[in-house]
Amino acid sequence: MDFDYDLFVIGAGSGGVRAARTAANLGARVAVAEERYFGGTCVNVGCVPKKLYSYAAHFKEDFEDSAGFGWNISGREFDWHILKVNKDKEINRLNGIYRNLLEENGVTMYCQRARLSGPQCIAIEEKRLSARYILLAVGGWPWIPDYPGSEFVVTSNEIFAMDKLPESLTVVGGGYIAVEFASIFGGLGRETTLIYRGNKLLRGFDEDVRDMITAQIGERVRLILEDDIREIAKQDTGLVVTLNSGTEFKTGLVLSATGRKPLTADLGLETVDVELDKKGAIIVNDRYESGENGLFAVGDVINRVALTPVALAEGELVARHLFGTQTGSTLSYENIPTAVFCHPNISSCGLTETQARAKYPEIDVYLSSFRPLKQTLSGREQHSLIKLVVDRVSGRVIGAHIVAEEAGELMQGIAVAMNAGATKEQFDNTIGIHPTLAEEFVTLRTPVSH
Ligand code: NDP
Repeated sequence: MDFDYDLFVIGAGSGGVRAARTAANLGARVAVAEERYFGGTCVNVGCVPKKLYSYAAHFKEDFEDSAGFGWNISGREFDWHILKVNKDKEINRLNGIYRNLLEENGVTMYCQRARLSGPQCIAIEEKRLSARYILLAVGGWPWIPDYPGSEFVVTSNEIFAMDKLPESLTVVGGGYIAVEFASIFGGLGRETTLIYRGNKLLRGFDEDVRDMITAQIGERVRLILEDDIREIAKQDTGLVVTLNSGTEFKTGLVLSATGRKPLTADLGLETVDVELDKKGAIIVNDRYESGENGLFAVGDVINRVALTPVALAEGELVARHLFGTQTGSTLSYENIPTAVFCHPNISSCGLTETQARAKYPEIDVYLSSFRPLKQTLSGREQHSLIKLVVDRVSGRVIGAHIVAEEAGELMQGIAVAMNAGATKEQFDNTIGIHPTLAEEFVTLRTPVSH
């Protein structure tokens, strides 16, 4: 059968664009449909603008810390408008780069909504197209619990477009987005409340990391644990939030960071043989193929690990499987490093201590909690944490965890070592860089627990 395209990608986010570019480079005839913005969540309403806002928020602490180093900076004022306009400019530039990447590689673009209309068939309005392979890379969407007044909250999608930032803000949730935005709002000098239903932030992270970050965020914003929103009422001057505990307070804005869901609605999935899991994610095999022959899915819509670099790797692998020579390889989901850009940053790679205890018969845990050199003169009571989890039998480092400024920057190199199977002895035999935070990784000599 003669197809219009070899590969049709729905969704021009991280995974979709990478797959399209790679496939086109390998000689395939490729098209991409995108109804919203090029670059997807990461570029437009996620990682990139979030990191820019996080940089902005960090200046507050930097200014404060500079006093102990002899600086006298008076008259500090923050202008949200300037930040927002500059952020928009940068995001527009990146949108253009993503578009160009596709154009330069000869990818046909449809800036419209595309739906499946059967196996190997795509519908774009009245147009009907066919493709030998179709890749769904449509991402995810913020999810908001249902309670009276939930229509008054915003999500991470809207927050980036806001022209004004109220003086007081409330964030709901205890995951990545919640702690990052609570840190941003607090850092920008707003009166910030973070409400989380659990007793410690960031479920799934190492318990020592969770303890430390819960305490440190609690010093920066008003933290309400083991409670949740019962209802929100709108008034002329803002919102009134009532919690399950009965606590009631006024706030300018509520940001719901209560998780994301795969964006599978209205995609024509009923016209093909595709199964969804309990969370609505498309079920795929190791080659990212769904139940329907020739229909693939990658990124947040398969909900394996919802991180940009993972979607990139998945998208690239699909293209290489289909059009290249890399037909047998699969992606390892072990030792994926991740960072949370709250204040201070967190980064992890591999197993938490709890996961390691469940998986390995004997482990050693090395932990250092210390006040970094910078904080001696700054006067800030901020401790950092570096933790290694080691499989005693093989000696391999199977978990690494950091709470520190620039934790993500520190972890990338550690992740390389872990993926290469580095042992604790090899860490110990590595000369440190003095004085740095990272040298703690090679000077941890005595396990704190077995
Ligand atoms: P997360 O899954 O990380 O966190 C969701 C939070 O919402 C959890 O604390 C959860 O609580 C809470 N929650 C869920 N349901 C309810 C409810 N009904 N009422 C109250 N609270 C609720 O999702 P995010 O939206 O923060 O982020 C989505 C994903 O995006 C992340 O998992 C991550 O993969 C990715 N991401 C990565 C970033 C990075 O790399 N720096 C930054 C931002 C996002 P509980 O823990 O109790 O279930």
